[in-house]
Amino acid sequence: MGECMRIIYTEDYSQQEAMEKVRDIVSRRGGQRYFLRTFGCQMNERDSELLRGLLGGMGYTPTDTPEEADLVLFNSCAVRENAQQRVFGNIGRLKSLQESRRDLLIGLCGCMAEQSKVQEALHRHYPYVRLAFGPHHLYKLPSLLLELLQGEGAKVFLQESGEYAVVESIPQERTPGIKAYVNIMEGCDNYCSYCIVPYARGRERSRYSADILREIESLVKEGYREVMLLGQNVNSYGKGLDEEIDFATLLEKVAKVEGLWRIRFMTSHPKDLSERVIQVMASNKNIMPSLHLPVQSGSNRLLKKMNRKYTREEYLQLVSRLRDAVPDVALTTDIIMGFPGEEESDVQDTIDLIKSVGYDSAFTFLYSPREGTPAAKLQDDTPKDVKQERFERMLQVLNDGVIKKKAEKVGQVYEVLVESQESTGTWIGRNPYNDLIRFHSSRDVEGALLSVRITRAKKFSLEGEIVEEALS
Ligand code: SAH
Ligand code: SF4
Repeated sequence: MGECMRIIYTEDYSQQEAMEKVRDIVSRRGGQRYFLRTFGCQMNERDSELLRGLLGGMGYTPTDTPEEADLVLFNSCAVRENAQQRVFGNIGRLKSLQESRRDLLIGLCGCMAEQSKVQEALHRHYPYVRLAFGPHHLYKLPSLLLELLQGEGAKVFLQESGEYAVVESIPQERTPGIKAYVNIMEGCDNYCSYCIVPYARGRERSRYSADILREIESLVKEGYREVMLLGQNVNSYGKGLDEEIDFATLLEKVAKVEGLWRIRFMTSHPKDLSERVIQVMASNKNIMPSLHLPVQSGSNRLLKKMNRKYTREEYLQLVSRLRDAVPDVALTTDIIMGFPGEEESDVQDTIDLIKSVGYDSAFTFLYSPREGTPAAKLQDDTPKDVKQERFERMLQVLNDGVIKKKAEKVGQVYEVLVESQESTGTWIGRNPYNDLIRFHSSRDVEGALLSVRITRAKKFSLEGEIVEEALS
């Protein structure tokens, strides 16, 4: 794969005709309902906003239960085996429903959908799944559905073709609120040795900056106040575009969008985080001082085996340059324990790195072999219980640090952007450092920027009280 890559950019949404035909069928059937469940990361959540938009455009209406649905879609995650098993479990539970309702359409999309092993498993164990398409084929949903609705008992399983489209103006249904996800690029070319993403999401490709900016400007007009720029490796944004642009320049342009209060972005690969990006973060107030910087391991030996292309020393230097420029920056990370060949000294290196960085929070994972990746072929003879013990030891150190950081925030006053009401009178918002903060207000404060003093630190969140109600 990869050799015969072709990227097509298109403004023209060529599925219009199929959409109209499906809409006709749906209306002739007196309406159709869909149940969509999303697994995995923000990328998948964003993709589901497009799936909802496409389905809505074809006359489908949402329902919360598969029993009421005519179409069930699982937007799946393949990054770890247990994520994948959860998806298969959900598909398995639909067997009897499908037997009693032969016309029920069941489909799999997202990162699992185009893997040959997964498709084989579907054919063999879940023959009632009739639709499978990966993230880069999402925009084709109307013509895929049309094929299924017209062909009695037909199955449509797409496979990776090495051709990727960057399609603008796909209909979408955004999650309402004040925060919006904005994709700036798709795919990944890094091939970390453990990771399935480059195979599942294809080659890296960026959107044109004008399209991104237009999208953000219209989000602000709709009332969104914060954007999260999304990509597997945002720091290599612009590569391959016939436009002179890099991530730092894009960030600068986004920061100038009037009325946009907060900008965040993820994920930053440490090897590509440039000095310019750090400077742009430091000099723009609406770019939040918080950064997700996955380290994966603190051991040079394992970083090399993981194909991460940086050393622990380079990572630590990067953190210190960041803190020189943005002294209060909050850092979060991802860590994988139990990589093949991991030794006690590697575990110690990771624990030492965690202590010296002092993370604000982290996602921690036990290594999960993914078929087709180079790491899956490595010999792995560390017993399960040893891996588990190491994982828990690392987690203890990590959590101690996280809890200590949270406790130090008691008494501080932060500017909090209010996201939603959790229960009557209890609101949730975030400070610039992305800490989740709960507080009381009898007024409707959704979308407001308030000054909140922290009164109590919990393990993974903070509690506070309003100091002053800002006019925003
Ligand atoms: N592009 C992002 C995130 C990709 S997946 C990045 O580079 O950081 C999110 C996280 O899942 C990764 O950072 C990694 O920590 C974890 N992960 C990926 N593959 C894994 C595997 N095979 N086993 C365990 N964790 C994995
Ligand atoms: Fe996976 Fe590495 Fe790409 Fe992240 S950068 S998606 S971990 S291959």
